[in-house]
Amino acid sequence: MLAVEDLSFAYTRGGEELFGGLSHAFTPGRVTAVTGPSGRGKSTLLYVLGLMLTPTRGRVLLEGGPVSEASDSTRSRVRAARFGFVFQDAALDPSRRVLDSVIEPALYAGWSRKAARARGRVLLEQLGMAARADHRPGEISGGQGQRVAVCRALVTDPVVVLADEPTGNLDRHNAEGVLRALSAATDGATGEGGRARTVVIATHDPFVLEHADEVLAL
Ligand code: ADP
Ligand code: MG
Repeated sequence: MLAVEDLSFAYTRGGEELFGGLSHAFTPGRVTAVTGPSGRGKSTLLYVLGLMLTPTRGRVLLEGGPVSEASDSTRSRVRAARFGFVFQDAALDPSRRVLDSVIEPALYAGWSRKAARARGRVLLEQLGMAARADHRPGEISGGQGQRVAVCRALVTDPVVVLADEPTGNLDRHNAEGVLRALSAATDGATGEGGRARTVVIATHDPFVLEHADEVLAL
């Protein structure tokens, strides 16, 4: 479903080359942890998989077709419709209520406000955050904020979820909650079509590595 072929990426011409011709197929229905020392390119790989950066060599395939070579507008459309992101240290807009933060990607992807709010409430309920739907980020804890970020990533029912160090600043209890939510997302349990999703987590958290289905070491 999601794969890379002969992938390399350099931020500058002639600069350090990351990934060194990596080929890898990510398994739908599985959580893959991408690990490796700091600076090895874990975050960059998520940006390349998420079509925000274009490979220097090689390509990204989604459902068998090359997507990394598509036009900017096609990549934006694919990204909005097919991918969910949990960014590192995901900062929620402090002025917005939790539910409004969660539904933003769905509105961007063209959902009606009504459908987005219904879906957002289901996700908040599943992640134990229903009571916080109308709170603002200043009124919830860091762990709860990460769970909101996971809801945001799942709201469009994406086939691929990319999460960058989602447990980075969390204690074990909250890390478990976030990981459980991402794992549950793989089998489509939180989705509508019941499709298997591909979940990729960049991490150096031993707890996540231990519980991931597959590990890709950079
Ligand atoms: P990791 O997430 O594994 O710590 P990154 O993907 O953040 O690694 O970074 C990989 C390498 O690319 C590092 O050497 C980093 O300094 C460099 N890098 C990251 N972002 C940029 C950027 N925007 N411009 C130039 N170099 C960058
Ligand atoms: Mg990183």
